[in-house]
Amino acid sequence: MHSLWRKICDNILAPSQLSGGQIVDMLTPAGRSAELRRHAASVIMARVQLIAGLFAILVPLCAIVDLIVFDLDTAFQLIGLRLLSAAIFAALAWPREASLTRPYTQALAALLLLLLVPSLFHLLSADLLARASTTHAQQLVAQLYAYLPTVVLGGLAIFPLTALEALLFALPVIGLGLGSALLIEQPLTLAQYGGTLWFMVMMLGVAMFSGMSQCHYMATLVVRAMHDPLTGAYTRQSGEEALKLLFRLNHMSGKSLTLAFFDLDRFKSINDRYGHEAGDRCLRQLADSVRAGLRRSDILIRWGGEEFVAALPDTPVEKVPALLQRLRQGGLGERPDGQPLTASIGVASSAEPAAGSWENLIQRADLRMYAAKQQGRDAVVWPDGSCLTLTPAAEISSTAATTSTTA
Ligand code: GH3
Ligand code: MG
Ligand code: MG
Repeated sequence: MHSLWRKICDNILAPSQLSGGQIVDMLTPAGRSAELRRHAASVIMARVQLIAGLFAILVPLCAIVDLIVFDLDTAFQLIGLRLLSAAIFAALAWPREASLTRPYTQALAALLLLLLVPSLFHLLSADLLARASTTHAQQLVAQLYAYLPTVVLGGLAIFPLTALEALLFALPVIGLGLGSALLIEQPLTLAQYGGTLWFMVMMLGVAMFSGMSQCHYMATLVVRAMHDPLTGAYTRQSGEEALKLLFRLNHMSGKSLTLAFFDLDRFKSINDRYGHEAGDRCLRQLADSVRAGLRRSDILIRWGGEEFVAALPDTPVEKVPALLQRLRQGGLGERPDGQPLTASIGVASSAEPAAGSWENLIQRADLRMYAAKQQGRDAVVWPDGSCLTLTPAAEISSTAATTSTTA
């Protein structure tokens, strides 16, 4: 059973080897990272707006069919419902800025509305259509309208939803579909509506597979596009986007965003003496060590070759000395000759006067990093211009001992 599930996952959902975690990520959104949520939200929202825009035009256009097929009274009642639906679709399609704090909830709410409108239209028109359908043409059109909830379920397939989300979104649609059937014919027997229900469940199955597959591809692409393959840190481009967002979020909530700009000390000499591979290993070590010391909400960006930026949201600058001391004491990595890997660090905070933008913060942190280099490296320069040497006392005394032995 387990291997069958794996085969389905590998060959149908996504033609690649999937880890257990990735399979869970296709089933429920609980473990999704903030960046993936944000990306999924923008994909869902874009598709909701596209479909809502299309429906805002098509739904009123179908009034022509109503006027041709049904009596005027029925047609006008249907047109009333169509105009109401079209207004909601138009409102959904209207361009709006994504929510800064809860873009995923906003996208799911829009999707729910998009799904509910056709289902409610069907529920509200079912009885009217049943009473007005006496000719074959009327019965045919009423029958076609009755497929609306099933079509809506099939439409779920174009959204990158996890299995659980697709199921939760399908339940109200199925419920309203059955509710419409109940309105027309009572009692509702499984024999009569078993076929429709089965069709709906099949559509839901297809939508679930498609959604899960899209989730997996999206996660793979987002991770590849946003993270540097060598160190796993954010790339410069995705890091800039994240900084822009963090700066706005922290500004809105009156919290401080603190940046620590790291530049490895005498890194070129590692490449020159031990080769590029050894240099790469040191970069990976540094990224792993810094990340291990950060919180989940902090991000690490590879700004350039051996330069990294740690962005610490909701962090007053007073909290950072302890963090950097701890990181340095725990070790930023090891040079191939066994000496500790060190960095010069510049710190900047959004709480500083006239820190108007994230670009400005980066510029200040960069300048302070250079000041730390000039102060002898393995040090931090703070917003007030003071410099803190990070070399632990034990290392200073062991260096002194080595020097005196050599002497
Ligand atoms: P300083 O203490 O003044 O910062 O000295 P440094 O040697 O670190 O400074 P410099 O800017 O001269 O050297 C940076 C080096 O980083 C040069 C470049 O070859 C190396 N580098 C940049 N990207 C990579 C990479 O991806 N892998 C490796 N192995 N080296 C890299
Ligand atoms: Mg450099
Ligand atoms: Mg350097």
